[in-house]
Amino acid sequence: MKVARFRYGEADHLGMVDIADATITQIESAEPHPDQMIAFIERALAGTAPVPDGEVLPLDDVQLLAPIARPSKNVICVGKNYREHAQEFARSGFDSSAGREQQAIPDAPIVFSKAPCSLAGASDDIVVPEALSASVDYEGELGVVIGRRGRAIAAVNAYEHVFGYAVINDATVRDLQARHKQWLLGKSLDTFCPMGPWIVSGDELDPEDLELSCWVNGELRQQANTGDLIFDIPTIIETVSASMTLEPGDIIATGTPAGVGIGFEPPKFLHNGDVVRVAIGGIGEIENRIVVVSS
Ligand code: MG
Repeated sequence: MKVARFRYGEADHLGMVDIADATITQIESAEPHPDQMIAFIERALAGTAPVPDGEVLPLDDVQLLAPIARPSKNVICVGKNYREHAQEFARSGFDSSAGREQQAIPDAPIVFSKAPCSLAGASDDIVVPEALSASVDYEGELGVVIGRRGRAIAAVNAYEHVFGYAVINDATVRDLQARHKQWLLGKSLDTFCPMGPWIVSGDELDPEDLELSCWVNGELRQQANTGDLIFDIPTIIETVSASMTLEPGDIIATGTPAGVGIGFEPPKFLHNGDVVRVAIGGIGEIENRIVVVSS
């Protein structure tokens, strides 16, 4: 199934997407929960998911929202999780995580986070304050959405705790990422985590064999297969859940492949009006415009 949150008229809804018909069918019986998607995920795993029972709308007529409005915690992200990207980042001079040894390929997953206010929908603008607009970068990534609650999850059981997958752009202000050592500020600007276009349930795809591509203004910048992750999804879930309980609706961004802006010499940063499109086979695509604002 492909489940989306969307705005139609004045209201926000949950709906089931039919790609072949390019339609979305409202799930009117969805819980009036502050985050309907999280309530839906909990019911789906209990085998009592509400069925699409409302209006059938053309996908083009609705505004897709971030699939999860407010996860229980920050969006969990993995850094330097594709070999070539780890090397390009270490070379770039923006990598405050590399330490004195300047180690490019990490021994253990590098885990950081983005604040929930960074979440945005599949077609929303990425809004950049002018003062922070000199080093904006893109990172196309596979997003994992947690279904079943758990702590200390063994890698072998990890997929039992996954509800589904979505496309993410882990947008970043590189200057902030480097200046503050910790990456939180450079990663957490409002709208800097476009996600979508919907969540595809785990039974519909093989997350370890998905083609990921990212274009800027139509120019292909990133292309990789999720099978090339240094730390795979079960390893990431085992690592993160050893420290914290994962809850339904929690989001993990699995890392980005080579081809980000700072991988070029000179860097190809994003500017006002640029359009970033990230596509993952079997899921769909998100496309977001950079909009620089004065404050
Ligand atoms: Mg990233």
